[in-house]
Amino acid sequence: MAELPQSRHLATEIPGPKARQLAARQAAAVAPAVASAMPTYAVRSQDGIVEDVDGNRLIDLGSGIAVTSVGASAPAVVQAVQDQVEQLTHTCFMATPYEGYIAVAEKLAELVPIRGQLRSALFSTGAEAVENAVKIARAYTGRQAVAALDNAYHGRTTLTMSLTAKSMPYKHSFGPFAPEVYRIPGSYPLRDQLDGAEAAERSISALQTQVGAENLAALIVEPIQGEGGFIVPAEGYLQRLAAWCRENGVIFIADEIQTGFARTGSWFACQHESVEPDLVTTAKGIAGGLPLSAVTGRAEILDAVHAGGLGGTYGGNPVACAAALATIATMEDQDLCAKAADIELTALEQLRGAAQKDPRIGDVRGRGAMLAVELVDPDTGAPDAELTGAAAAAARRAGVITLTCGTYGNVIRFLPPLTISKELLTEGISIVLDSIAQN
Ligand SMILES: *Cc1c(COP(=O)(O)O)cnc(C)c1O
Repeated sequence: MAELPQSRHLATEIPGPKARQLAARQAAAVAPAVASAMPTYAVRSQDGIVEDVDGNRLIDLGSGIAVTSVGASAPAVVQAVQDQVEQLTHTCFMATPYEGYIAVAEKLAELVPIRGQLRSALFSTGAEAVENAVKIARAYTGRQAVAALDNAYHGRTTLTMSLTAKSMPYKHSFGPFAPEVYRIPGSYPLRDQLDGAEAAERSISALQTQVGAENLAALIVEPIQGEGGFIVPAEGYLQRLAAWCRENGVIFIADEIQTGFARTGSWFACQHESVEPDLVTTAKGIAGGLPLSAVTGRAEILDAVHAGGLGGTYGGNPVACAAALATIATMEDQDLCAKAADIELTALEQLRGAAQKDPRIGDVRGRGAMLAVELVDPDTGAPDAELTGAAAAAARRAGVITLTCGTYGNVIRFLPPLTISKELLTEGISIVLDSIAQN
């Protein structure tokens, strides 16, 4: 396969003629509820570039939502997938097991920041991993309640959408929701002005008074909140919550589905503050674009579930496992944690420079290659979703894959592949910043 030039190139306007034809076919055949951000259609991708059907080369600042951290179709992943597809596409691990599944579990035991003997169970999607983490926590503790934070995102199945905070679009019209799910305030430094200890006290007080520690199986937390707005909790917040959970026999689940696998500059975001969870959920970046997810935790906890209690037809599919092993090896070989830290340095300087000139950029935050700007009314601090939408649309038309997020829809997030060149990264961010400035 020919190399894809690592430069932005507009062959047509976006959407071009072929993209418009596909849009018409999509409108006729695809459920409109499954909406797409980019107004064009991908054909191939490598490192920082996605090529569309009209031959436009787009700068990728999304990685398919933090999935293709090693680059889409990374060579080692392609090779591993091709080899595995020829050998064995599927047996179902519960029917006839195979080595790749075990090797992924061994790798997770090595990388996940929990001490002692670890075990893992593999699944296909992030939501499935979260569901299973809750099942495991309930089985181990014999308790039923589960707590999640304001601004949380944990998926779209009934249990995980119940854990997710935001109504539109994730929950609206889809109730009733799963029982025994409680929501408590979290830490959102820009909007609550609390330090880590204060925010943790507020969270713990809500848990104690509204749920009761003795009823609580698990608290699930994203170390940096993803869909909710790339919210980095105040320093010390996660430590304090994890300590309270330990003192009270509550399972602390770190949902590292978006933050995990080198994205934030370390293997897992918990490591930035030396937080040791009981269970960690992973997915997205783990397998370079193949569907794979996992729950990893202390052996004692995973061993509490009866044999046959966990599984699924496709969970830990051999092709996805081969892709994960190649993805993790690529991350190690290319030191992509360091690459994420470099991206942070380059991008933060650029974003902070723009924020100094434009008071509508109310906050610049994130870690590694998980960064964001929050757009506000400079006088009141009120979220500016309109500006966010207009700026993202303009950047997309200019050939930059741009994602938004946030409870108030006013955050533009940056999730480039960790293999993006510095030139493309800088150019992509400049285009987004220009789009903000001009709207
Ligand atoms: C994306 C995401 C999920 C859900 O993963 P799916 O693979 O879409 O089911 C859960 N938690 C977090 C933090 C996520 O970012």
